[in-house]
Formats: sequence, structure tokens, C-alpha cells
Amino acid sequence: MLRSLADLSREDIRRELAMLVGPGRVSTDDDALRAASVDRFKKYMAVHGIYDGPIPAAIVMVQSTEEVAKVLAFAHAHRVNVVPRTGGTATEGGLETAVEDTVVVDGSGMNQILRIDPVNMMATAQCGTPLQVLEDAVRAVGLTTGHSPQSKPLAQMGGLTATRSIGQLSTLYGGIEDMVVGLEAVFPDGTVCRTKNVPRRAAGPDLKHIVIGNEGALCFITEVTVKLFKYMPDNTQYRGYLVDDMGAGISIIREIITGGFRPSVCRLYSEEDAHQSFAAEHKGKCVLIFICEGPKAIVAATVDEAERVVSGHRNEVMSQPLIAQWFGHLNWGTDQIKAEQDTMLKERWLGYTTEIAANWSDVMDIYESVMHRIRAEYPYADDLITLGAHSSHSYVTGTNLYFVYNYRVNCEPREEINKYHIPLNAIIVEEALKRGGSMMHHHGIGKYRTEWTEQEHGSSYYMLWKLKQTFDPRGIMNRGTMFKAVED
Ligand SMILES: Cc1cc2nc3c(=O)[nH]c(=O)nc-3n(C[C@H](O)[C@H](O)[C@H](O)COP(=O)(O)OP(=O)(O)OC[C@H]3O[C@@H](n4cnc5c(N)ncnc54)[C@H](O)[C@@H]3O)c2cc1C
Repeated sequence: MLRSLADLSREDIRRELAMLVGPGRVSTDDDALRAASVDRFKKYMAVHGIYDGPIPAAIVMVQSTEEVAKVLAFAHAHRVNVVPRTGGTATEGGLETAVEDTVVVDGSGMNQILRIDPVNMMATAQCGTPLQVLEDAVRAVGLTTGHSPQSKPLAQMGGLTATRSIGQLSTLYGGIEDMVVGLEAVFPDGTVCRTKNVPRRAAGPDLKHIVIGNEGALCFITEVTVKLFKYMPDNTQYRGYLVDDMGAGISIIREIITGGFRPSVCRLYSEEDAHQSFAAEHKGKCVLIFICEGPKAIVAATVDEAERVVSGHRNEVMSQPLIAQWFGHLNWGTDQIKAEQDTMLKERWLGYTTEIAANWSDVMDIYESVMHRIRAEYPYADDLITLGAHSSHSYVTGTNLYFVYNYRVNCEPREEINKYHIPLNAIIVEEALKRGGSMMHHHGIGKYRTEWTEQEHGSSYYMLWKLKQTFDPRGIMNRGTMFKAVED
């Protein structure tokens, strides 16, 4: 536990914040503060009411860029740790308040859609706008953001941008880094920066990429402008196949993607992972799924190519309505979170994931070494209910792997995280790094992959570290996330 570095007491911090934004927007409610001290990384302990880290001093509900600037400048002046928050769906400890007397700056009240511009095909929204709300608004005028992470019903534009999120349709539309046209962010000394909304420019490095993916460790994102695309759901086609093994599935995907085709969804489930969604249909095989969308002629050409490539391998065709139905139930809202909590409490089991990225030539090596190592050396492998993986985001140069592990908890709730999630996560990270991959594809580094940040970046860590030192010299932004302490 890190002691507060602030030169003010907990009570002084609360009083000063109330003076800055008004007392009605500074929460010091005990239950809210305890819940705000963690995210879904510690979901099992949280559901049992166990909070083992520092409890924040306050949650500040900001309403404007000016208020964010005032709160950050105050925190910077007095060395108060700040954790930015919007939708609260983080999975990697990014929302954990690792330092005593932290202030959680909650942007979910900044939830206005500021502009939908169908001529220039972009929409601007404040950081607290839920993606689902933005998507519904643009669909009403025949457009789509193309962004569809599983957390779409809950996640908000600030957090989605701060984590470099990616959605299920990424193979066609890209990740958030491809979608953001421009943004506004506030830096710790209160400086407000806005980047220009133009299609491209060659005016030095593209500065928005310093902000995208910063995980609240450099600045607070207040506004985001994203691209829009025509929404043509009537043309969408769903295809599913059973394939013998992961290697065959990966080579099918590679052939389609490197051939220049872009299904929006391009997914391959290992046999074990397929069992979770297709228990009655997968017949002990891997499941390969394509969804093709966009203009009719492009959809037809993409479906033809997928079928041509798949037919060169031994495979079995799955029912199209089944795939459409599966896709329709993929996202998680509050009902699914509640059901998961009930399962954790009543049945003492839960699931986690760790996602990595790799080039085509490395991906099977990483897959096999992770599966082998967990089965051979992880001492509690008998408690694993599911150990599998899927590839769900593909690129011309490679793909991702999303390792999935569900386990029965055979210990006290307080011990769960160290017995299961942390060591399993570590094996996956180590194997990915050892074999040339990236240790994270889209959930961000959070606080539990920070120990590997330098190894992940190699010699380019110099640039990342200089950004931290330059923009956050007093180390007040989300301490422990992505970077070790600034003094280290
Ligand atoms: C069921 C479920 C499914 C998920 N599926 C996906 C998926 O398909 N794809 C995917 O990419 N992720 C997924 N995630 C992870 C998570 O939803 C994403 O990381 C999402 O981008 C977080 O958005 P949020 O608004 O909830 O952010 P939060 O959880 O509030 O914050 C996430 C991180 O961003 C920082 N942050 C938040 N707001 C700001 C801001 N305004 N300025 C600066 N920093 C900020 C926080 O400090 C924290 O480190 C999933 C999570 C869950 C629970």
C-alpha cells in the first residue's frame, strides 16, 4: 500500500474539492468510496465485500472541461493521486486507487453528444457519453460508429479512448485508434489541449496518439470526435464453420485477410472456448465465424472469398441463424454483470481473460506454449473449468489471442487473485513476450502488467517514460498504472 504523497490531509482534500466544484459533487459516501477503490480485476473479492487497498478520499463528479482543469491543477499542486473514471468497466486494475487519499475524477456526468456531422462523417461526444447512446443516435440517421466492444452497453467514450479499446467489428472498422479523428484532453497542470478534426495531416507526429491509450496516466480526456460509416444492416451475412484445429483456422483467416478481404467479424474459437457458446454444435472442434457487412457487392465478394478459402480445408458448415443469434447476445450490460456476481457467490467459480497480439508466424507458437505451460506447471490446473482461447481481431500482419480461463475457487475469497488470476495472467504475458508478441492487445496495461511495461516496449520505453516525466512530473496521474512511480 502506498502512503499518500499529498501535502494536505484527507479532510483538507475533501474541503478544497468542495470549494472547487461545489459540495454536491464531491462524494465521500463510504460504500461508494470502497467500490471506487477497485475495478473488475478484483471482482471476486469485491463481490464478497473485501477491499484490501487504499480507499479513495473522494469521488469528484466533474461537469465541464474547466472543472477537470481546476481539479487536476489542484491535485498537481498538492501531489494528490488522481484516478480518472468514466464507465467503470476496466478489467486490469486501471481504476484501483493504489495510493492513500486518492481522488477519483468521474467524467460520467459529461455525457452530451455535441455534434453529429453526416457530411463530414464524424460525431463529437463528451467523455461520459455511453458508446451505446452514441451508437443509437447515429443509427437513427443511418450511420454507425463501427465500434462494438462487448462492454458497449456500459463503457463510455473517455474510457474507451483511454484504453485503446477495440470492438467485435474491428477487422473492418479498426480499433478506437483508427476511429478517433480528434480529441480534447486536460493535462495535470490544468493545460487544455485540443487536436484538429481533419482527415490527415503531416504536421509533425500525430499528437492524438499520445492521448489515446494513456489509461489516465498522462491526462484526462474530456471530448472525443469519431468517424462515422454508413449503416447497412440489411446486407449483413453470417457464416460459421467447424474446423479441426487452431492452426487450420488461423491459416484460413490469414489467407482471407492477406488476400485483401475484410469481414467485420473474423473469429476463431479453440475447441475448449467454443464449448462456452456452442456446446451443442461444435462436436469437439474449433469454431470459425465470419460476419460480412457494408455495401451489397462488397459483402457478396467477401462471403465468396471466405467460402472459397474455407472449402479448401476439411470443415463443416454451421447454421447461419445460429451465428446471427450468437452475435445478438454477445454484449454485456448490467444484467450480465449481476448474473456473473450471483454465479461467483453461489457457485464459487469465475472467469478471466488475458489478451495478447502476435504476428502470423508467432501466434500458434504462443498459443501452444501457453496451453502446454499452464497444463504442465500451473499447480492448480485441476481447478480450471475452461482453458481456451480465441482469435477475434485480425490484421494484415497478424492477429490477437484472447486466452480464457474459468476456474472453481478452492480457497478463501481473499486468496483467489494470487492463487489463480495473477499466476495464469503471468504465464500468458511471459510466453507472449518471450516469443515476440505483445503482452496486451486491447485491455490496456492497468496495474497488473506494469512490471512488464519496459520489457514490452524495449528501447522505445525511453519515449514512453519521457512522456510521463514531461506531462506528469509529480506523478499524480493514476499511480501504478502503466508506469512504476515517477521517482523509480
Ligand atoms: C464485460 C466486459 C466486456 C469487455 N469487452 C471489451 C471489448 O470487447 N473490447 C475492449 O477493448 N475492452 C473491453 N472491455 C474492457 C473495458 O470495457 C474497456 O477497457 C473500456 O474501454 C473501458 O471504458 P470505461 O468507460 O468503462 O472506462 P473505465 O473503466 O472508467 O476506465 C478505464 C481506464 O481508462 C481510464 N480513464 C477512464 N476515463 C478516462 C478519461 N476520461 N480520461 C483519461 N483516462 C480515463 C481509467 O483511469 C482506467 O485506467 C470489456 C469489459 C467488460 C467488463
